[in-house]
Amino acid sequence: MPINPFKNATQQLENAAKLINIDSDVLEILKNPKRILEVSIPIKMDSGCIKVFKGFRSQYNDALGPFKGGIRFHPQVNINEVKALSAWMTWKCSVVGIPYGGGKGGVIVDPRKLSIGELERLSRGYIRAISDFIGPEKDIPAPDVYTTPQIMAWMMDEFSNIKGYNVPSIVTGKPLEVRGTKGRKYSTSQGGVYVFEKAVEKLKMNPKKINIAIQGFGNVGAFMAEILFALGYNVVAVSDSKGGILLDENGNSGKNKIKNTKQHSLNIMEVIKFKKDTGSVIDFPGTETITNEQLLALDVDVLIPSALENAITEKNVGKIKAKLIVELANGPITSEADKKLEKKGVIVVPDILANAGGVIVSYFEWVQNLQNYYWEEEENIDKLKVIMERSFDEVWGKKDNLDISMRLAAYAVAVDRVAKAEKLRRGL
Ligand code: GLU
Repeated sequence: MPINPFKNATQQLENAAKLINIDSDVLEILKNPKRILEVSIPIKMDSGCIKVFKGFRSQYNDALGPFKGGIRFHPQVNINEVKALSAWMTWKCSVVGIPYGGGKGGVIVDPRKLSIGELERLSRGYIRAISDFIGPEKDIPAPDVYTTPQIMAWMMDEFSNIKGYNVPSIVTGKPLEVRGTKGRKYSTSQGGVYVFEKAVEKLKMNPKKINIAIQGFGNVGAFMAEILFALGYNVVAVSDSKGGILLDENGNSGKNKIKNTKQHSLNIMEVIKFKKDTGSVIDFPGTETITNEQLLALDVDVLIPSALENAITEKNVGKIKAKLIVELANGPITSEADKKLEKKGVIVVPDILANAGGVIVSYFEWVQNLQNYYWEEEENIDKLKVIMERSFDEVWGKKDNLDISMRLAAYAVAVDRVAKAEKLRRGL
């Protein structure tokens, strides 16, 4: 039986509800998505025949503002995953204090198997199917796994065609040419770096001696590796869906040579080039090939899961050696595994905080679209830093005060805000 991520999400909510003592009525509301759409999207394939794709949009909670969250194109998308992701968006927006609720969408498809024309028709078809239920004041989609700025541009165009005028604020994560915002594409990772550095400081780790392994080399994992490497950190292992690489003993030579430093790291700029050329990180010179499972079990200081949910489960949690885990993926650790990590004293910076950088800069993009006034990249990134660090401090303070995990502390902050808004709005 595959692990149900919505069960995991509900468990996390219930743990927080117990701690902060929220009304059972309010908890009942918070345990259920407000609305779920399931749509069939008929697409004319290049062969001329019609294929019907299944898509979802889960609008979880909008007590704090319009629903917000990405759209995932992936063969394993299912309703429980979309529901879980929409719940996590609710807590994510709340914990960092941006005025949104949570939502998430998905289409069951392997976009790598579609032609560019088919992908465009599917993106437009999905937006057409849900167009009555979304809008700049209702629900604002964005990219997620395997969806890109180009896809956002098609979705924005389709929605604008339906309305008969330009509506850039309908989706975020757009290309700059069509009213995207500067820095959005690496913002999830940049936000992750800010909380990573805060955690390193709190745990009194020596930044020069930290070894880091990153699982996932998509948009989020690759930018994370790139930024950390540029800051002088040692990224010793990375992986993609095909497998991983670990820097070998003599790794700092050849293609992996890093000029003028003693950094003992994969040369991430070269790894990125290598992946572009070959389609995978595997066989990068100066490395040993490992599996994704082996990467998680490496004797490193910091682990950064940046792929999909349920990477660390009861089955492999015993093998984890890292002292710090920064969850850039959504839901990479199951509730059972989480308990065991806590017992072992591993610090986990939870997803709803660690990967909030993406939706924070999405928020800036939406604000700029609504105002028709655009900021410089520096302004986006400076403001992102302020929000990430403030949110980290708030969660860390709660963790210390109550002697609980960072995840429980983050949920306590997030759920409390949404519960209070529900109570005030409903007169409970
Ligand atoms: N998909 C991203 C996430 O999981 C970004 C969502 C957004 O920008 O709305 O946080």
